[in-house]
Amino acid sequence: MATTPVVLVTGASSGIGRACVDAFLAQGARVIAAARRTDRLEDLRAEHGDAVLPVALDVRDRAQVDEVLGSLPDGWPPIDVLVNNAGLARGKTPLHEDDPDDWDQMLDTNVRGLLNVSGAVLPGMVERGSGHVINIGSNAGREVYPGGTVYCATKAAVERITRGMRMDVLGSGVKISEVDPGMVETEFSEVRFHGDKEAAAAVYDGVTPLVAADIANVVTWVANQPPHVVIADVLVYPLDQA
Ligand code: NDP
Repeated sequence: MATTPVVLVTGASSGIGRACVDAFLAQGARVIAAARRTDRLEDLRAEHGDAVLPVALDVRDRAQVDEVLGSLPDGWPPIDVLVNNAGLARGKTPLHEDDPDDWDQMLDTNVRGLLNVSGAVLPGMVERGSGHVINIGSNAGREVYPGGTVYCATKAAVERITRGMRMDVLGSGVKISEVDPGMVETEFSEVRFHGDKEAAAAVYDGVTPLVAADIANVVTWVANQPPHVVIADVLVYPLDQA
């Protein structure tokens, strides 16, 4: 990484994204923290001052992504590290019982959103011949579980996109990596169950889940490898997750 790298983290308002902001800041980076819930991003700014640039961003909206990332204040670009973390699961029913709006949210955020942000950031990295994109996938991209058909498909798409990106930028000096978490206790489960806290908590029965900082540790480790080393893909599980 550059001496004082600039890191863009999407989905920085909670969970893994928020933990990545903290972890990169602790290493002396400056962080562009992007999400829709700007009140939370302002809290980050209040806590960390000028080292954080809060940015209101809905990754699903390509025009907004291009506009916002194309007009960052002086001194913030170039972006050295992009953590494509914004994502969600919705529902846990069989496909034929799903609400199609939930499919749209997952596809638009996890797949199109990741493409939108990458499309806005990668050209600059390739032009400069340096930079690192770290995509947050999931163990769900490597398997299918009941009630997870569309979410698993979106994360499988992240895995394919990551591999494709790596080929696309080969020889340019840009690094592409993927970090695949297993079960992490964040707001993810509550979002999945549309705010049903009981259903959300039941997901962790019998498992001591990871905490967001566990994944942030891995993300910063991936980002801090020597120039000639790329961690292509890491799967991180809680000890007792099957
Ligand atoms: P959280 O719900 O805690 O965080 C999700 C983040 O994504 C929030 O900051 C949210 O911000 C942001 N986000 C959602 N939709 C959008 C959008 N349209 N535009 C911009 N930001 C958006 O969950 P996690 O931290 O657990 O999830 C982070 C990533 O990790 C996701 O990609 C998820 O799929 C993946 N993951 C999580 C696992 C887990 O067990 N928790 C396991 C495997 C992978 P806001 O609502 O403010 O926009």
